[in-house]
Amino acid sequence: MHSVLRGHTPALILLLATTPLAAQPVRLLHESPAVRRAFEALPALQSWTLDQQVSLCEIPAPPFKEQVRAEEFRRRLIALGYPDARIDAVGNVIATVGNGDGPRVMLAGHLDTVFPEGTDVKTTRTGDRIAGPGIGDDCRGLAVVLTIAKVLRETNLVPQGRLYLVGNVGEEGPGNLRGVRHLLTQEFAGAMDFFISVDGAGGAGIVSRAVGSHRYTISFEGPGGHSYGAFGMTNPMHAMGRAIARIADLPVPPGPRTTFNVGIVRGGTSVNTITPLAQMDVDMRSESAENLLEMDRRIRAAVDTAVREELARWPNSRAPITVKYDTIGIRPTGGQGDDAFIVRTAIAAAQLLDDGLSWTPRTEASSTDANLPIALGIPAITINGGGRGGGAHGTAEWYQETADSYKGPQFALLIVTALAGVAGATR
Ligand SMILES: [Zn+2]
Repeated sequence: MHSVLRGHTPALILLLATTPLAAQPVRLLHESPAVRRAFEALPALQSWTLDQQVSLCEIPAPPFKEQVRAEEFRRRLIALGYPDARIDAVGNVIATVGNGDGPRVMLAGHLDTVFPEGTDVKTTRTGDRIAGPGIGDDCRGLAVVLTIAKVLRETNLVPQGRLYLVGNVGEEGPGNLRGVRHLLTQEFAGAMDFFISVDGAGGAGIVSRAVGSHRYTISFEGPGGHSYGAFGMTNPMHAMGRAIARIADLPVPPGPRTTFNVGIVRGGTSVNTITPLAQMDVDMRSESAENLLEMDRRIRAAVDTAVREELARWPNSRAPITVKYDTIGIRPTGGQGDDAFIVRTAIAAAQLLDDGLSWTPRTEASSTDANLPIALGIPAITINGGGRGGGAHGTAEWYQETADSYKGPQFALLIVTALAGVAGATR
């Protein structure tokens, strides 16, 4: 069983031992003087936060090439008063606040974007709206982490336990969560009590359930030949076309939302070549593990049928078509109820910020860095960083600075102080 009891005083251990995490009352610490000082300092940091967001966004960070942005993120943490900020073996940036025996909490934004090398990452500003690839996802999250780093130092707020401030690599598709996987299964294996990812702009949406995904590169291979001279030979590209048509018509299983997508196709040598290789990248997702497996089965069946159809189309061809699946990523499904301690904590924090507009708490399912800790049994959520945004994963992505965008950092502050405790404050 997962435990947050490590290192508490014996009397407290006894108390907590009789009060399982699920039943433990949520205690926001906004009335403790240290947290109140930090909370009240955040509105004045709003434009600083935005500056961090925009300037980080203009440093390219394609999948597996987050290094330059990581170096800059580390440099800023050092400048904010974290001389020990470091970059680990896979490229995550980590700074630590506090060294007490209380709960260990990780607050992370992800460094990587979905955009390939060469994408123009210059931002453009029109009024309070800023456009740029990655401006919300996840430069907003990185800026919130830096803002928490700054406000803790400026107000001398020290967690009772340990708070790890992180910029992690590998959240987006091809990264397959390699950043948090390394953090939570290697460096901090068995030693993290709570994980919070700040991912994107927006209000009090709380991702507490993990949408799982299966992603493959599916390759269709044959001998190939001249389009005229070898006509009559089975064609891997045509087989793939048949497969895509079948996948496009697949029904999804009933129940929790289940989706599929052929996202990238590749292959071909020239217009007059029967290609020896055609490939497609396929993504399927569901909140239900059962539905995800069923979708996986249906897509494989569609591919098998498509290949049989292509072979049947050219009965005199002896050219075989072979199919190969390479895994791009497998993300587990899983969830926590709204009664889970970390979820209740986030709901309580949002209620404190709620003005009847965008900070009315609601829990959601998504596919984020929190998938991994949730699968490991570590209480984890993903939250938004304030402001408004849209168009994520497209080059027209935008972020809108709202009058109350400082509520994003306030939300994160309330959650991490409630979970990690505050030195000198009574919990
Ligand atoms: Zn993201």
